[in-house]
Amino acid sequence: MHTVPALNIDMNYCRRCGSAFVQQNKHVFTCANNHVIYANASPATAAIIVNPANEVLVIKRAIEPGKGAYDLPGGFCDGAETLEDATKREIAEEVGITSDMYTELKFVCSGIDNYDLAGEVLAVCAAVFYVKLHNYVTPKPDDDAAEAFFVPLTAVQPEEFYFPALQKALAIIKRQQS
Ligand SMILES: [Zn+2]
Repeated sequence: MHTVPALNIDMNYCRRCGSAFVQQNKHVFTCANNHVIYANASPATAAIIVNPANEVLVIKRAIEPGKGAYDLPGGFCDGAETLEDATKREIAEEVGITSDMYTELKFVCSGIDNYDLAGEVLAVCAAVFYVKLHNYVTPKPDDDAAEAFFVPLTAVQPEEFYFPALQKALAIIKRQQS
C-alpha cells in the first residue's frame, strides 16, 4: 500500500528548445519561446484475467517499485500505443497468454497511481480491463512477473495489491460478482 500524491512532475527545461520555463499553471509549462508543454499522468494498463473456474491470475512483481508485492499483468503504454494494444502486449510478455485465448477486453475503471522510477515519482493513469480465458492455461511468468498463479476471485484481497488502481478495479469486480 502506498499513498498517491498530487501530480508533481519534476520539469525544468523546455523539451523543444532547451530554455528554462518562465511560467507554470498547474500542469501547463511555458518557456521563453512560448512553447507550451503539458505534464500529464503517464498512461498504463492492467488486466484482471479470469479462468473458467473464476480464478484471477495474480503475479508477484519481479522489480521495484513494489518488488515481491501482488500485481496484475500490465504496464506502461509504449509510445503512441492504445490502451487495448498495450494490455494485450503486456499480458503476452508477462504471462505468455495471447489475445486469441481470452474474450474481448472489458473496461473496468481507471485510477491514479504513483510510480517510483529512478528517484522520480511519476503520476500514472492506469486503465484496468477484465477478460475471461476460453480455457484453462498455465501462465508462464516472465519480464516484470516473478511468479504467476490463480487465486479464486472470492479469496482475492484487493488491499494486498500494490497499486491503488488495481485495488479499486478488483473491488468493483468482486462487488459485481457477489
Ligand atoms: Zn521552448
